Amino acid sequence: MKVPLLDLRAQYEGLREETLGAVARVFESQGFVLGADVRALEEEVAAYTGARHAVGCASGSDALLLALMALDVKAGDEVVTTPYSFFATAGAIARLGARPVFVDIDPRTYNLDAERIEAAITERTRALMPVHLYGQCAEMNAIGGIGARRRIPVVEDAAQAIGAGEGSRGAGAMGEIGCFSFYPTKNLGGAGDGGMLSTNDDSLAARLRSLRVHGEASKYHHREIGFNSRLDTLQAAVLRVKLPRLDSWSDARSRNAARYRELFADAGLLEEIGLPFEREGARHIYNQFVVRVRDGRRDALVEHLRGEGVGTEVYYPVPLHLQECFRYLGYKEGDFPEAERAARETLALPVYPELTEEQQRYVVESVRNFFC
Ligand SMILES: *Cc1c(COP(=O)(O)O)cnc(C)c1O
Repeated sequence: MKVPLLDLRAQYEGLREETLGAVARVFESQGFVLGADVRALEEEVAAYTGARHAVGCASGSDALLLALMALDVKAGDEVVTTPYSFFATAGAIARLGARPVFVDIDPRTYNLDAERIEAAITERTRALMPVHLYGQCAEMNAIGGIGARRRIPVVEDAAQAIGAGEGSRGAGAMGEIGCFSFYPTKNLGGAGDGGMLSTNDDSLAARLRSLRVHGEASKYHHREIGFNSRLDTLQAAVLRVKLPRLDSWSDARSRNAARYRELFADAGLLEEIGLPFEREGARHIYNQFVVRVRDGRRDALVEHLRGEGVGTEVYYPVPLHLQECFRYLGYKEGDFPEAERAARETLALPVYPELTEEQQRYVVESVRNFFC
């Protein structure tokens, strides 16, 4: 049996006609950038996340960059964030000449440890940038409280978390600005790159709309220096087919996660495999199902699973503070022990919505063969 980490074809099978119809409509219109589909998707995503505004852009990475620009983050400023994320989180900060100030993670959730944030804030801190890693929100009540008290805006990197939530609040609608990605492997994935910003603030929304078209105030009149980060019409048309299904896909991912919990328990593997921790009050959408393997056996397990035809991936093998390009920041090994341990001990297992029970049994059986 083969179990891929993600099976986009299985999802496409059920959407073929509708997707191709949407694509054909765009070709018939010959309008390929922004336009009515983008506008409609923005409204639909705003409604979905519970934010007042949503603004399309070219990628999740650009969303992070645009968010920080809209908050006037500049060279010499500091932004507090996690060392354990996809590169773009810290990359956006550094790209503006600002300094990523890392704070270690909570080993249970892999998200920014809210209790360590205060100590990292200085008079130069211009933003807090938590990441809702793997589909579970960072502790936004605590982080939002710190932001409000210290008057520092919060940018949510919600690239992996569209549809996740904290109590009744949705990912992307809790901070000053939320950033989403429509990269194909995200829960809501396009047919290429795409991204979106969300905010409850009218003036930030207007500024983001301007920044994504080179800081235009009106056509050919530029108030400030932005860049080109428009969302393609084709992406919006495809994403509008998928958005109404997103909740049922996320539910299916949660169901698969719950089934893994049973299967790993039944297999007697709870000592060997550390399962994802669901924080109380948080809705986890399982963009990834990440497990922890202790005693230095992670890489051997990855190797074994590949041999068995089970797709796995290590997110992320090198924490951001130890990336070559960030050497100038002066961090060293040992600075963030939990991020470093997560980088050594974790791997992702297939959890995509179309995964069958039989496939999950095979995955767990393959893990069991490794340990027993
Ligand atoms: C995917 C991702 C991004 C970047 O999104 P792109 O659309 O690929 O540019 C940023 N942050 C996190 C946490 C991500 O997972």
